[in-house]
Amino acid sequence: MAESFPEIRASVRRLCAEFPGAYWQALDRDRIYPTEFVETLTREGFLSVLIPEAYGGAGLGLGAAAAILEEIHRSGCNGGACHAQMYTMGTLLRYGSEVQKQAFLPKIASGALRLQAFGVTEPTSGTDTTRLRTFARREGDRYIVNGQKIWISRAEHSDLMVLLVRTTAREDAAKPSDGMSVLIVDMKEAVGRGLTVRPIRTMLNHATTELFFDDLEVPAENLIGVEGQGFRYILEGMNAERILIAAECIGDGRFFIDRAGAYAKDREVFGRPIGANQGVQFPIARAYVQVSAAALMVDHAAALFEAGEPCGTEANMAKMAASEASWFAADMCVQTHGGFGFAEAFDIERKFRETRLYQVAPISTNLILSHVATHVLGLPKSF
Ligand SMILES: Cc1cc2nc3c(=O)[nH]c(=O)nc-3n(C[C@H](O)[C@H](O)[C@H](O)COP(=O)(O)OP(=O)(O)OC[C@H]3O[C@@H](n4cnc5c(N)ncnc54)[C@H](O)[C@@H]3O)c2cc1C
Repeated sequence: MAESFPEIRASVRRLCAEFPGAYWQALDRDRIYPTEFVETLTREGFLSVLIPEAYGGAGLGLGAAAAILEEIHRSGCNGGACHAQMYTMGTLLRYGSEVQKQAFLPKIASGALRLQAFGVTEPTSGTDTTRLRTFARREGDRYIVNGQKIWISRAEHSDLMVLLVRTTAREDAAKPSDGMSVLIVDMKEAVGRGLTVRPIRTMLNHATTELFFDDLEVPAENLIGVEGQGFRYILEGMNAERILIAAECIGDGRFFIDRAGAYAKDREVFGRPIGANQGVQFPIARAYVQVSAAALMVDHAAALFEAGEPCGTEANMAKMAASEASWFAADMCVQTHGGFGFAEAFDIERKFRETRLYQVAPISTNLILSHVATHVLGLPKSF
């Protein structure tokens, strides 16, 4: 099947060729943020493709953004350092006031402002988002924020954060999903004045952090949309997030298949290429089948999203299928490489660690299965 967006893909591949494995290996060792890579992507306009032309972006649809992230990952690079800009911006675009959009979107498009941080998860609520406890109390023309977030990625490398808080306690709200609001936090203003950011070292280089809010003041004009409606705004953005992450998984899967295929043709043991053995070639072929099937699901979900159709189930299913396909491909690639699968210089072990994340974040597989079981198949609710 012909590739979608061939020119965009070719440009992304050219750009990524300037950031080879050695670049990522050096950063990975010391958990350093890929600033140069992100700046280059921003300069070339790839991170602002979803911003309408009226605000300085390219005004393209989600399929183009998915193609960009897929190619980044297929090239061995990692979009995790900057993908949030693409989907968090949607909350501002759809629900922000004209004043907010004029204030932020052109600067995000030009790279003058980075919108990379998205603060939802909390240590005590976990996936049960309606139980989040970070609270913003309105006092005159500002909100006073108190609480804690965890796993907030890129907080140290972002000028703005889209933050989900409670503005009405769960027990006082009409429904558990009511009473949450979205604030834009200016990170430079906030850090040291009520916001503390603590990095968490993880098995991959993802610049993730823990956030502590202690009477942080946020101007009331930074509220997005209507107070109390924030959960709905965030949920809509999550469909875009899941489709884009799924595209990254497709890119990872193709990276592993490319690498495994090349190695299996080249590596000779027992006097012939290892790829001549069906025990080696079948897992590569299986990975190809699984990644190809998942890619069709990602395309389908992206097309629904672009058409403005409901796509929650399709976005979730695409993310699950793609993350499982990329993980199978990762495991297959390590196995195909034997000992060299573990060598840092081959990039396989790094990509293996990186792609594992996507069965947990941004939503774990069990929660997707639960959605399909109860919302699609009508099985009884378990929680
Ligand atoms: C590297 C990294 C980066 C991240 N970046 C961000 C970010 O930028 N912003 C942000 O807001 N969040 C971020 N997250 C958080 C991520 O979205 C959550 O970790 C994820 O949604 C899972 O939530 P949890 O860790 O609280 O798991 P929990 O909700 O505690 O769940 C733990 C396990 O139990 C399972 N489980 C829970 N309840 C049920 C149930 N009822 N039935 C069956 N199984 C269940 C889950 O599927 C999961 O496997 C990040 C996480 C990581 C690891």
